Amino acid sequence: MANLVGIDLGTTYSSISKLDDTGRPIIIENSEGQNITPSIVSFENENSVVVGTTAMINYGVDENTFGRFKREMGTDKRYEAFGQTYNPTTLSSFVLKKLKEDAEAKIGEISEAVVTIPANFSNEAREATLAAAKMAGLEVKNIINEPTAAALHYAFSSGEELHGRYAIYDLGGGTFDISLIKVEGSDIEVLNSEGISKLGGDDFDEKIRDLVKEKFKAETGNDLDPEDFTKNDAEEQKRTLTSRETSTVRIRSPKGSAVIELSKTEFENAISSMIAQAEMTCETLLDDSNLSPSDINDVILVGGSTRIPMIKESVKKIFNKEPKTFGNPDEAVTLGASLYVAYKANPSDLNPLQQKAISQVKISDIANKYFGTLILSYDEEKQDWNLVNDTLIPKGEKLPSSVSKTYNTVSDNQTTIQCTVTESNVRETDKEFVTTMWEGNLDVPAGRPAGQEVIVTFSYDDNQVMKCSFLDVSSKNKTDIDLTIDNENINPEMSIDQFKVE
Ligand code: ADP
Ligand code: MG
Repeated sequence: MANLVGIDLGTTYSSISKLDDTGRPIIIENSEGQNITPSIVSFENENSVVVGTTAMINYGVDENTFGRFKREMGTDKRYEAFGQTYNPTTLSSFVLKKLKEDAEAKIGEISEAVVTIPANFSNEAREATLAAAKMAGLEVKNIINEPTAAALHYAFSSGEELHGRYAIYDLGGGTFDISLIKVEGSDIEVLNSEGISKLGGDDFDEKIRDLVKEKFKAETGNDLDPEDFTKNDAEEQKRTLTSRETSTVRIRSPKGSAVIELSKTEFENAISSMIAQAEMTCETLLDDSNLSPSDINDVILVGGSTRIPMIKESVKKIFNKEPKTFGNPDEAVTLGASLYVAYKANPSDLNPLQQKAISQVKISDIANKYFGTLILSYDEEKQDWNLVNDTLIPKGEKLPSSVSKTYNTVSDNQTTIQCTVTESNVRETDKEFVTTMWEGNLDVPAGRPAGQEVIVTFSYDDNQVMKCSFLDVSSKNKTDIDLTIDNENINPEMSIDQFKVE
């Protein structure tokens, strides 16, 4: 039987899972016996790294320890340790390698993995994630958006036939995402998704640190040194305040000693403006989707930070119903991914019970960005031609989707047509605010008047892969662009094979 796994490569915590022999998704523990592994990488020297809880102890206090690099995937951010430079992809590959090796020690060699990706990840960040998987020695044929994976897990584990619209509220360590899905029996369809890319448990930890700093100053008259109350210390206090009304911090440092009491109310006041932001995002999503809270059957909580009581209350207030959790909220995404890897697999790779489990679900996704092209448009005010962005596939469009639009050439004897494929998070006409995914020229015959028809077609499939074409109708000249993230052609910048990863 093939060894298929689902992996949630999270900003703060990562995890790996599989379907058991009865077709139920289960976590594969790491070598320390934990369900989730901190996405922290600590270099011991130029060819040895420690990943996870041990690395976490060094996070924020040691210069060779890095975290939160998921936020930088596909960017030119670089990290330096022991004279070597690493990019976010390489750091992610260490996390994946740790998950892989720990899992393989338990279940044997992994044949294929599905890795989850935030719905709002750019093409570059998606490619970078695939490159990281490749460097870690994982075979990844499919990726899945995190809210879709969570929806899949929810539909599977709810144990009843679902009908109607549901909201997936995901608040993790670094990001907040809210998605609306429609479920009709086994059909799961993602309707719409919104998020705040820098809002999560990390920010709450920071607020705890601020509170402690303030109280330390009041008590001792001195400024607290960061290493005397670290980010990890703050996270621990935060978790205490999830289950208790107060917590106690004992600090003994060169700057003085203090016993500091924190209350749940103080913590809630400190994070209230961030909760309000999340609430506004939920309201915007409902408004944009022309839905009211009564149109939503259930709200499902995902992400470790949804354990905080105030978050649950906030969700209840916005959606006017008690939110639901299935199992551990920080495991929903990985468990959904292990359902998805099986869903995409060859039936012969599954046993009959696993096949039966998978037959209960069918999913369709939406475009997570706006995709468009740059066209010349006449600006009456300026009396001039202006290069503007025109959307072909809007965000939220059900996949697979194919859209064609006809444009016209603007000048006589025009011999080339500039072809551009753009992406953006909001509907944009200003070319300065869109990202170019591809650009090139289409040569066309000389000697023709302006007004020649050009048909632009964008097709986006349910694996979030885009193909585009620009066709000059009269000459039939055509440019075909395949923006498929081609796993074969992904060339990681370096090999991590020489590294010992623990
Ligand atoms: P990711 O953002 O990596 O997907 P998770 O979904 O695992 O992460 O969520 C991690 C966040 O959840 C961290 O900020 C962590 O401190 C927070 N968290 C986990 N358990 C609790 C708890 N009991 N109370 C408050 N916050 C928690
Ligand atoms: Mg997450």
